[in-house]
Amino acid sequence: MSEPLGLFGGTFDPVHFGHLRLAEESIAHLGLGGVRWIPAGRPPHRGVPEVTGEQRLAMVSAAIAGNTRFSVDASEVMAAAPSYTVHTLERLRHELGADRALVLLVGADAFAGLASWHRWRDIFSLAHLAVSHRPGFPVESASLPAALAEEFEARRLSDIDSLKASPGGAIATFAMTQLAISATQIRKLLANQLSARYLLPDAVLDYIQTHSLYRNA
Ligand code: ATP
Repeated sequence: MSEPLGLFGGTFDPVHFGHLRLAEESIAHLGLGGVRWIPAGRPPHRGVPEVTGEQRLAMVSAAIAGNTRFSVDASEVMAAAPSYTVHTLERLRHELGADRALVLLVGADAFAGLASWHRWRDIFSLAHLAVSHRPGFPVESASLPAALAEEFEARRLSDIDSLKASPGGAIATFAMTQLAISATQIRKLLANQLSARYLLPDAVLDYIQTHSLYRNA
């Protein structure tokens, strides 16, 4: 049986070391065969990103270059319609078959907002969810909206090995190296002509400089 596949969606505006460590550490913590990065096209939850989808995709590709466990999925960026995770998961199920264990990777802040996602409960019939710790965002039922706290309690996995046992439906948590890095912080630094070096890969910074991105606050 194939190892579970990690699916990592995000705006990645721009991609940074918080994202990279989350994906890297999820492989060992969750026993994944690899992680497929899925930059959002037109994220339904937020305003229009400052740079184009193609540019965010290019930055993710530059960031993960050389890591054979990582791949990038351009489908959301290339789609004309807004990106809803549930639609992407339906497409991936179709592509990868009904039995493959899929694990949607989310940071604790993204998980806390899950109940506002389009058809959020259907996500559990399509994939597992793995929630990584993130500084400032506790992963505990008491800090979640009631409907989500209920799902969290009912689906929570204590034994990570059982992620392999079914294609989806469970919620795992994992503690990653805590990095208080955000894309918002990086955009602010760059708009103020301050250094963002060592918060994201040099290859991504080079791309940002070459294309004069994030110059405006
Ligand atoms: P922004 O500051 O623009 O909101 P962000 O840094 O949160 O962006 P996103 O692209 O929105 O980055 O995040 C994609 C996913 O990565 C989300 O699930 C988010 O929770 C997670 N994530 C981002 N940064 C970190 C971090 N430093 N530690 C753990 N998880 C993170």
